[in-house]
Amino acid sequence: MRIAVLSDIHANLVALDAVLDALGAVDAIWQLGDVVGYGPEPDGVVDRLRERGAVGVRGNHDAAALGGPEIEYFNPDARRAMEWTRRTIGPATRRWLSGLPERLIEAPFTLVHGSPRDPIWEYVTTAPVARRNLEALETPWGLHGHTHLPSVFRDDDGRTELLSPSDRSSIGLDRRRLLVNPGSVGQPRDGDPRASAVILQLDDETVTATWHRVAYDIAATQARMRRFGLPGRLVERLDYGL
Ligand code: ZN
Repeated sequence: MRIAVLSDIHANLVALDAVLDALGAVDAIWQLGDVVGYGPEPDGVVDRLRERGAVGVRGNHDAAALGGPEIEYFNPDARRAMEWTRRTIGPATRRWLSGLPERLIEAPFTLVHGSPRDPIWEYVTTAPVARRNLEALETPWGLHGHTHLPSVFRDDDGRTELLSPSDRSSIGLDRRRLLVNPGSVGQPRDGDPRASAVILQLDDETVTATWHRVAYDIAATQARMRRFGLPGRLVERLDYGL
């Protein structure tokens, strides 16, 4: 069984299509939230995920797009983009986003956007925060996004180690509890502007996670953002992956 794990697509349809193309045939698509926000094609991304039968969870931007109070915590650029998103999305997108739960268990994995204990908001960026979340996890392994940084936090005999996977990095999942972050499809922030995603390969006795970085036509996404008057800083950051 081959599963694509995608997070923080952020209405970047050009990046999503490049990733789906590059990953090829998969048995399932799991998305970890922030489907919309920042980017120029919220309806297009939701249509594509619906067509492909993706399942997944709600992020802080998805909640804000539905009118939630999350927008109050956004910086000015994110807020402007969210106001545009709210005006732009159609009823089908709204319905699909409303159906996303905050947590989804696909045993032996738990899917969340932020963290297992605070699925909408918490950023897991440090070992102490990761440790408390590994303890809160109801399944052996967790999948999360929100930081836009590819990472693994793994419990190693009470010590929490952090791995920072790059393109084609692969890890075997074993008895150790861990949190896997595939990085961001639509707005990477680790200094590599290529879209980031994970393939989970589940065989009879082994489970492997492999990170993939996929180049996409950044200028095409930027042109659409400019056309819709989205904030310049959000347009430019796609060039740098920051
Ligand atoms: Zn995000």
